[in-house]
Amino acid sequence: MKTKISLLLFTLFAAACTGRASDTIPLFDAHLHYNAEARGPYPLDHVLDLFRKSRVTGILANSRPNEGTHALYGARSRDLWVVPFIRPYIVQPDRYTWFNNPKIFELIEAEEKRGYFQGIGEFHLFGDDARSPWVKKTVDFAVSKGLYLHAHSDEKAVDILFEHNPKSKIIWAHTGFTTEPEIIETYLNKYPNLWCELSYRYDVTQEGMIKPSWKKLFEKYPGRFVVGSDTWINDRWGQYLEIMDGYRHWLAQLSRDTAEKIAWRNAESLFRR
Ligand SMILES: [Zn+2]
Repeated sequence: MKTKISLLLFTLFAAACTGRASDTIPLFDAHLHYNAEARGPYPLDHVLDLFRKSRVTGILANSRPNEGTHALYGARSRDLWVVPFIRPYIVQPDRYTWFNNPKIFELIEAEEKRGYFQGIGEFHLFGDDARSPWVKKTVDFAVSKGLYLHAHSDEKAVDILFEHNPKSKIIWAHTGFTTEPEIIETYLNKYPNLWCELSYRYDVTQEGMIKPSWKKLFEKYPGRFVVGSDTWINDRWGQYLEIMDGYRHWLAQLSRDTAEKIAWRNAESLFRR
């Protein structure tokens, strides 16, 4: 009986320790937008404060138009590492047409000349739209400049992007949004330059517990996942602390090494220059 009680106490203690460790684990936000409509209600000082409060020490930043990203990059500091990506949109409806618009390709070329961008995206691209010659040009441009792509895409578009150029490096926004863990695994095996971002993947957990199929995937491929807020509308800025804490909750249910990789170490390996 005594042994059982000590074992129980030990388990509770270990759980509490894990919980505490995860409460403070730093996070890299690999899916952040700072769009025009966010800048009024969420001025720069306010968002920097949100990063501090949520222990987000790095961000993969992009915005529509790109001025929001320029502002965030200008605010980088010892406490906030900013990895800027070129958003191929000027106005919101560009998300439906950018892949057939030569002006957007010009925008990408012009932004790249700033010299500090590390990727292109997030962009939306589905199915055969990925076959557009302007997408092929964008992919080849990214490879030639060493830029990542941040693709909100279905499985078919991911296949086509890699067909365009097998040297592409792709961050898969939302990991396909609904793609099942078994399929994700086949993609991870097929494409060594594919990394999965997990915003909006509320299906990772059930009643607060990480599902076994996801847990298995994370522990088997710890180097292939990152997390993000996806502040695509102002509501998401309002929920920022909660969203980032949600990750800490399930990261605490993984091995420490895997949790740290997904939380921030993978971003370090991918983007630190
Ligand atoms: Zn997004």
